[in-house]
Amino acid sequence: LIAQTDYLVIEETETQIEFTNRKRIGIIGGTFNPPHLGHLILAQQVGEQLGLDKVYFMPDAEPPHVDEKASIPAKHREMMVRQSIMGNPLFDIETIELERGGKSFTIDTMKLLVAMHPDTDYYFIIGGDMVAYLPKWERIDELVQLVQFVGVARHGYAKESLYPIIWVDAPLVDISSTEIRKMIKTGRSIQYLVPDDVKEYISKEGLYLDEDE
Ligand code: ATP
Repeated sequence: LIAQTDYLVIEETETQIEFTNRKRIGIIGGTFNPPHLGHLILAQQVGEQLGLDKVYFMPDAEPPHVDEKASIPAKHREMMVRQSIMGNPLFDIETIELERGGKSFTIDTMKLLVAMHPDTDYYFIIGGDMVAYLPKWERIDELVQLVQFVGVARHGYAKESLYPIIWVDAPLVDISSTEIRKMIKTGRSIQYLVPDDVKEYISKEGLYLDEDE
């Protein structure tokens, strides 16, 4: 019952509202230390295949493990993400976790985003290797109610999940940020593994040369 006067009763019906113009936004959370072509292919393939309005790259402020040494100041990671997505109208950056600082649980971040954008459906995109870890995510049962998870199948990982998930098949490359950092330390080329601007930035700023980065 939504309104009542002396002579008129208006009742809600089940079919009254159709959300035809809800926005559909993909989110890729990560450390992006550094961003690489694997991330970009993932984002592009899911965005296109699901017909999303945008895919946002959401760098975290701090690595999930406090003792993780493999991180550099967030401003560098943010800059490299900006360089990576430049010129692609499907891509954008979501800086909410960087602005909040410290460790953010995905559930808390997504709650904030959903509250700020009630007209949006969120698709949380993860690599197939991450799907098996979903049960360990903070308040995962609540999170799966809030966002639609999208997993991109990767070689060697089964398309299985304890949670509702949309599986997307896409050609992926086996690149990881960890591997890129190791290559830089040992003087190997990262050409074609990261966008050219990111490669230039890393070399100009002298990133990942020290053992504890
Ligand atoms: P690291 O090697 O330091 O763990 P990473 O390369 O996995 O880093 P993250 O920033 O941790 O990068 O990853 C963000 C998201 O991108 C995760 O969901 C991860 O599964 C996905 N991802 C990372 N590399 C690839 C890749 N080569 N292909 C597809 N998805 C990827």
